[in-house]
Amino acid sequence: MKCRTCRGPAIIDLKAHNANFCAEHFLAFCREQVARAIKKHRMLGPDERVLVAVSGGKDSLAVWDILLELGYQADGFVIGLGIGEYSETSTGYARAFASERGLTLHETSLRDDHGFDVPTAAEVTRRVPCSACGLSKRHLFDKAAIDGGYDAVATGHNLDDEAAVLFGNTLRWNTEYLGRQRPVLPARDGFPRKIKPLVRLGEREMAAYCVIRGIDYIVEECPMAAGNKHLRYKEALNAIEAESPGSKHAFYHEFLSKAADRFADDAAGAIADGTSELGTCTRCGSPSSNEVCAFCLLVERTADAVPVTLGERRGARR
Ligand code: SF4
Ligand SMILES: [Zn+2]
Ligand SMILES: [Zn+2]
Repeated sequence: MKCRTCRGPAIIDLKAHNANFCAEHFLAFCREQVARAIKKHRMLGPDERVLVAVSGGKDSLAVWDILLELGYQADGFVIGLGIGEYSETSTGYARAFASERGLTLHETSLRDDHGFDVPTAAEVTRRVPCSACGLSKRHLFDKAAIDGGYDAVATGHNLDDEAAVLFGNTLRWNTEYLGRQRPVLPARDGFPRKIKPLVRLGEREMAAYCVIRGIDYIVEECPMAAGNKHLRYKEALNAIEAESPGSKHAFYHEFLSKAADRFADDAAGAIADGTSELGTCTRCGSPSSNEVCAFCLLVERTADAVPVTLGERRGARR
């Protein structure tokens, strides 16, 4: 097995690209894929500042590293979600990554700064934990980016993530979400631009990237993800990919080039319906279609709740 670039011994084979690479040229390949995604989808200008939504997992640390390698001004932001040991460990990896490299990592803790955590919010709202978690992450990342004067928020969603989401949206012909599923969402109405620079790279590539770069990351999945439909969609797509390498890439990227525009009206209609009266949350100042935004309502609802310890949650629907 020889490296496509230098013909030296290869350490990884990428069947979807019909290529093998040595360590050095694999890293170059990853950077090139990110640079291509940024350019093609006009994610970032050369002098723009980007805030990376960091979890401590491989994807968010890799995207931060690659953005810096490509010369972008990238700081990190990590949220303590309060999901027991998982959150402490993952935040620890984010801190270590930043401190070893002298990078700026902003931090907030749901419990310390906002009075609740994800397991407690799930219990109070009687909904799946990912619902309160996703709402909190979107709100806090957006607010941190706007308050910090960043031009965009970057997330570590990779090709496997995006293909799995597309698969789920297609299974249900959820045209509103299909119209919004793009690697860049422009800034609007007080929300920052959102970008997904890893859409040309998969999970396996990102794990290999971190190993080669010496980036330590949390390997365990979030304990709240068990039973998550996206994990099953990923497994289904992996089975197809094993038989037909390149399927995931074609599924997602051909969707973007050939089909996404067809659903633009569905997405635009939903945005207009939901936010036509967009004002400002009277408590936190974030854009909101109601007097109080969904995050501040969650803070209010959880204010008097007894904190839930992991393993003790009962009765919440999955
Ligand atoms: S799996 Fe769900 S609860 Fe866990 S970090 Fe992701 S969104 Fe949050
Ligand atoms: Zn090489
Ligand atoms: Zn608010």
